[in-house]
Amino acid sequence: MITDSHNRRLSALEKNVVRGKIISSDGKVLAQTVSDDSGNEERYYPYGRMFAHVVGYNDKGKSGIESKWNFELLTSNSNIFTQISTDLKGEKNLGDDVYTTLNTSVQKAAYNALSGEKGAVVAMDPQTGAVVAMVSKPDFRPGKVAQNWEELNTDSDAMLVNRATQGLYPPGSTFKVVTALEYMREYGANNNFKYKCTGYTKINNVKIHCYGGEAHGTVDMEEAIEKSCNTAIVHMASQLNKGKMASLATDLMFDSKIPISIAANSSRFSFNKKSSDSTVPQIAIGQGSTLITPLQNCMVIAAIANGGTMMEPYLVSQVKNSDNGVIKETKTKELSSPMTKSESKALKKMLRKVVTKGTGSKAYSSNYYSYGKTGSAEYNSDKDSHAWYIGGAEYNGKKLVVGVIVEGGGSGGRVAAPIAKDIFDAYFNQ
Ligand SMILES: [Zn+2]
Repeated sequence: MITDSHNRRLSALEKNVVRGKIISSDGKVLAQTVSDDSGNEERYYPYGRMFAHVVGYNDKGKSGIESKWNFELLTSNSNIFTQISTDLKGEKNLGDDVYTTLNTSVQKAAYNALSGEKGAVVAMDPQTGAVVAMVSKPDFRPGKVAQNWEELNTDSDAMLVNRATQGLYPPGSTFKVVTALEYMREYGANNNFKYKCTGYTKINNVKIHCYGGEAHGTVDMEEAIEKSCNTAIVHMASQLNKGKMASLATDLMFDSKIPISIAANSSRFSFNKKSSDSTVPQIAIGQGSTLITPLQNCMVIAAIANGGTMMEPYLVSQVKNSDNGVIKETKTKELSSPMTKSESKALKKMLRKVVTKGTGSKAYSSNYYSYGKTGSAEYNSDKDSHAWYIGGAEYNGKKLVVGVIVEGGGSGGRVAAPIAKDIFDAYFNQ
């Protein structure tokens, strides 16, 4: 609870303490306070726009890490000798520094790969929940927010919104991962599902077509995922128990608040055992009323990558004083166990084929083992779609998962999968 006395205390701290630095996991300064010859302080962001949303700004109410760790940044836990020495010199004490999990090479790759598009990227270590990169576009200059406030708030592009954690999008075909998991759970990983796709079907009085009207021929469960065949998936979904499907979505943190310490929205999944059968086909292919944030979609793939256990995402690993002493340290936490180890293994094997011979081939590399799911999520009646890719990559025990969305990008395989590959390349080439 923010109270007046709390605010008075913070402004007293601001007078006596130089705001601490925000540092990347590879030791680079992401934000620091500098002062000119006359002692005027200014917050400086060496990477400009690249970390704008996640690191945040320190004006006009603050945002991102600047906001959440405001108190730590303005608190000096310097040792007593450092404090005496700064007091004697008549200088301010040095605030504590915030050490993030963000990596500058991976962030740069994600930022450049999104280039001039609107959209977002989240990259995470699925074994710990550490967020390695988080980009949202369009972006802004975090050091110039006060000067540009009017423009930033009237612009229709919602530049200040962190699309990675606040943007809500239909998941499209990325949701087929969830449908396939529930099908495996009810009918076994070695089920004998078969369906002949003609590019079009009518089921429960709902018309469903495959992307671009393509006919995929006879497919089994794995091929339905690999080719992202809508008609086969909706026929699989028509055999599922609605209540169990809804409870799987709950285990995957749909409709729940994701505990991450910056502004985030909950994903929406308005489906339960009482929902009408006519809602099933749309739900199964990630259309209809389901909405998801890139962060949440990244966590679905993170659970698969981490043997079925979803870790709590975090952005800050340590707070240290100006003498490099650790003041606070983040402990990794399990958030949910939405699937068993063998289910995660079977899903990974299925999603590997998406990359080796299916719609996600642009995320393939011979330098690491990658797997994932593309999505082209329709968002209007003209069949325009957002391009999605969620996927993971592993090499030598190191793992990374990503969630990528390009607004209005069209085909996920063509537009979002190559962005994921650039991010994996940067991570595994370090
Ligand atoms: Zn099909």
